[in-house]
Amino acid sequence: MKTLLTADDLREGVIRMSLEIVDAYGDCPLTILGVLTGSIVLMADLIRHIDIPLRVGVVQARSYRGAATRRGPLVINSDLMPDIRDRDVLVVDDIFDTGHTLVELTRLLDDFMPRTVRTAVLLRKQGRQEVALQPDFIGFEIPNEFVVGYGLDYQDEYRDLPYVAVLEEDDLR
Ligand code: 5GP
Ligand code: MG
Repeated sequence: MKTLLTADDLREGVIRMSLEIVDAYGDCPLTILGVLTGSIVLMADLIRHIDIPLRVGVVQARSYRGAATRRGPLVINSDLMPDIRDRDVLVVDDIFDTGHTLVELTRLLDDFMPRTVRTAVLLRKQGRQEVALQPDFIGFEIPNEFVVGYGLDYQDEYRDLPYVAVLEEDDLR
C-alpha cells in the first residue's frame, strides 16, 4: 500500500485542526459528536488537544440501500447519542466524499434542538462533492483515491493503521 499521510503528518494535522477549533469556539463548552465507526481514532486524538470544556458522544449513521444501487435515506441510531439540546455540537467524521452523509446527518440532528452544529473531517476528497455544504474544519485535502487507516476501513479492516494509505486493487485480498 502507498502511504499518503504518515503518523507525523496526521499528528501535525490534528494539532492544526484543534487550534482552529479552539479559535472558533473560544471558551464556549461544546459537545464533540463522533460518527461511528470511522471517526474514533481522530476523535481520540482531537479531544486531547482541544483545551475547552467538552462532552464527548457518538452517533451511528447508516444509509439504507434497498435492491437499487442508489443510496437510501440516512438513518441515525440516537440511542447512543448524548442530549444535545442547546449544546454547541461539533460533528466529527473521517472523510468528506460526496458530502451526502454529513448533509443528511446535520439535518437529522436539528430535531434534537442543538444550539449550533458545525462539522470537522480528517480528509476531504478533491473533486467529489455533490452538496453545497463544506466542512467547517478539514485536516487534509486528498486526491480521489480509496484510503484506509487511522479509523478508515475496507470491509472493517485496516482501521488500526497509524497512517493513511491508498488501497489499490492489487492490495485487495
Ligand atoms: P459521503 O456521504 O461523503 O460520500 O461518504 C462519506 C463516507 O463514505 C465516509 O464516512 C466513509 O465511510 C465512506 N468513504 C468515502 N470515501 C472513502 C475512502 O476513500 N475510504 C474509506 N475507507 N471510506 C470512504
Ligand atoms: Mg463512515
